[in-house]
Amino acid sequence: AEESLARAEKNQALNAFVTRCENVAMAAASAADVRLAAGNAGVLTGIPFAHKDIFCTNGIRTSCGSRMLDNFVPPYDATVSRQLNDAGAVLIGKTNMDEFAMGSSNESSFYGPVQNPWDTTRVPGGSSGGSAAAVAAGIVPFATGTDTGGSIRQPAAFCGITGLKPTYGRVSRLGMIAFASSLDCGGVLARSAEDCAHVLSAIAGHDAGDPTSARHAVDDYPGALNRPLAGLRIGLPRAYFGAGIAADVGRVVHAALAELEKLGAVLVEVDLVHADLAIPAYYVIAPAEASSNLARYDGVRYGYRCTNPSSLEDLYMRTRAEGFGAEVKRRILVGTYVLSAGYYDAYYLRAQRVRRLIANDFNTAFAQVDVLAGPTTPTVAFKLGEKSSDPLAMYAADVNTVAMNLAGLPAISVPAGFSDGLPVGLQLIAPAFAEARLLNIAHRLQ
Ligand code: GLN
Repeated sequence: AEESLARAEKNQALNAFVTRCENVAMAAASAADVRLAAGNAGVLTGIPFAHKDIFCTNGIRTSCGSRMLDNFVPPYDATVSRQLNDAGAVLIGKTNMDEFAMGSSNESSFYGPVQNPWDTTRVPGGSSGGSAAAVAAGIVPFATGTDTGGSIRQPAAFCGITGLKPTYGRVSRLGMIAFASSLDCGGVLARSAEDCAHVLSAIAGHDAGDPTSARHAVDDYPGALNRPLAGLRIGLPRAYFGAGIAADVGRVVHAALAELEKLGAVLVEVDLVHADLAIPAYYVIAPAEASSNLARYDGVRYGYRCTNPSSLEDLYMRTRAEGFGAEVKRRILVGTYVLSAGYYDAYYLRAQRVRRLIANDFNTAFAQVDVLAGPTTPTVAFKLGEKSSDPLAMYAADVNTVAMNLAGLPAISVPAGFSDGLPVGLQLIAPAFAEARLLNIAHRLQ
């Protein structure tokens, strides 16, 4: 824990942390020592880690990357926080993130952008950019993240680490600040699939406090890591290798797939007919849900409150005008528009229908193959500032990651190699609750 805190201090320029909690960490480390001495330590006992600043931590500020929650100290732990505390893991800090997890570069954070440890002029990805940078820089062996449309997988790819987005409902959302409730998934960023397997074992499972939590049995993830891959059928969706994917990214991903072939996997091309509708459907549904979820930030109960409001309406208006950043406001405007009486059918309802078509495409593909694979991102990490004034270009960067959230499927990004010295991620996608299969393939590749 001391070493981890010292590395966080040394790497301050990355801006990976919003809050570091030295005292909490040292107390947890002492408690872990006691457990180790008493012989009742688990695999995570005493292991330092960081939480994306979207997971509520009792008594520790939880900002969600926003001025709106800059002063918010939760009176309770998220289920994921409690589970990792119970496992004896040592929280050393809360990581920087795009505001309310809206973004793909970590540039929408109220606390400023995070630098990519591989090239500090580049973005770490987002929205879990601080978590990815903290792991990639060797500050912590693992960090939590959330993935609504790629926010675990894309930063993992950009920072050369492993990032697992579990099946929707596999990990509790209780105390995980809501962005788009039907898409949000808690998960893990780590240096290896093996580490992801251990962390997932601690945080997976049913939670009566989350009505969308799944009752499905939890697999033995570490136990599945070394299964042979002979005969495994891997589908390559043509759309995921299409125009817009940098040639070098495609080349590195194909080289990684060739390694899986050597291990006995069989590669087959498949079609996801509605793949090009994923971005438009996602950027209707996610803002719609966000506009509803973010209505609670009104300056009354907690969070930011404007000074000297002259009326209740003035309180609401100025609190939200001052508390939210530009990207969050854009999402709220888009969301309220697509949900409005005159446009609901044309946008929101249509997007929900497209969502079903996208899920059906995956079902069709999984009748032929065990997993799907492709590049996690169309390019390697882009430059800080490159897309920050062009929301549509930023949204387009999510082209290979949003469909899995619309369908609720598990997916992992694994380091595949490098393009000009920058990491490239291979994404693997599985049927619901087949996380063990993803971790197995990722582990064999590493
Ligand atoms: N980049 C996507 C967005 O901005 C996904 C974010 C996420 O997964 N939280 O909405």
